Amino acid sequence: MSEYTITFIKNEQPKEKPDSDHLPFGKFFTDHMFIQDYSEEKGWHNPRIVPYQPLVIDPAAMIFHYGQTIFEGLKAYRTAEGNVQLFRPDKNMERLNRSNRRMCIPEVDEEFAIDAIKHLLHIDQEWVPSAPGTSLYIRPFIIATEPFLGVRPSKNYQFIVILSPVGAYYESGINPVKIAVENNYVRAVKGGTGEAKTAGNYASSLIAQEVADKEGYAQVLWLDGLEKKYIEEVGSMNVFFKVNGKVITPALNGSILEGVTRNSVIQMLKHWDIPVEERKISMEELYDHYINGELEEAFGSGTAAVISPIGELAWNNEHMIINDGKTGAISSKLYQTLTGIQYGTVKDPFNWVVKVK
Ligand SMILES: *Cc1c(COP(=O)(O)O)cnc(C)c1O
Repeated sequence: MSEYTITFIKNEQPKEKPDSDHLPFGKFFTDHMFIQDYSEEKGWHNPRIVPYQPLVIDPAAMIFHYGQTIFEGLKAYRTAEGNVQLFRPDKNMERLNRSNRRMCIPEVDEEFAIDAIKHLLHIDQEWVPSAPGTSLYIRPFIIATEPFLGVRPSKNYQFIVILSPVGAYYESGINPVKIAVENNYVRAVKGGTGEAKTAGNYASSLIAQEVADKEGYAQVLWLDGLEKKYIEEVGSMNVFFKVNGKVITPALNGSILEGVTRNSVIQMLKHWDIPVEERKISMEELYDHYINGELEEAFGSGTAAVISPIGELAWNNEHMIINDGKTGAISSKLYQTLTGIQYGTVKDPFNWVVKVK
């Protein structure tokens, strides 16, 4: 049997599917999951699709102690014709391996990983919801499983993919949020793990999110970890501003996570001949644009929301109200176009969509 033959154990007790009109994020999981093991002797081996079930892991497994792990996040979309499709899964698998390299985790075969995801989706295809705005969230992740308390890279891993039907991000239409600029905590620093999709970045960001939430803000705007001067990301999304007709976004600098949505936004803006610049943006520069009436739009980008407009930015004692707190024209056009491509209702000029069935 080839190392790439996926064995399949069918779930004989399929669950009842949740009501797709009221789907919370990440709470329900499908009937099956994908698992593959890694050992030094065999490399990645024994790929299998099995009933969704708890893992049996030694309490000394290195994931629990030193956080050697990475994850990805993408979605499967159901089209009006009933087909199931993915959006740029190659970019997610490329990034999965970039995260792996940073975290000393052995790389996976990217094409095989996409095939495995397609295979799993085929088996659980009925779980891809069809109500407007809903999708099936795909969460690939890798954990260090060797039972050992010494500090060094693990010798054993598991690569797992689970699937979760999720509701529309915007229940009542795309809506701007209030954001607090974070002057105290930092998410990542150059040389750290900010450009890897790894659990620790999230664990360390929770406290800022919690404070912001108590003060009535949806997310924080992260500044660079060295000078706390330059803008990096918003919550767990990349960030864009429209200033004087031009769109600007922080250049990748070693601490920013490169979003697939960020990359798609930049390509789409160029396709529309809208000027877009990737460069350093200081909070002071942004504030000056605001005072001069030049800050026209601000939005976050990520797989979950696609585009999340920013209606207010609180910085020190200033409350910057952007575009009267309303969704801007470019934000709206990007949202409509990207979601349209994902659901197959808008032409896909870059061949981003990959059909599953
Ligand atoms: C996942 C993630 C993003 C967005 O990436 P997408 O591929 O667009 O979903 C942005 N910032 C952080 C910190 C992330 O973890």
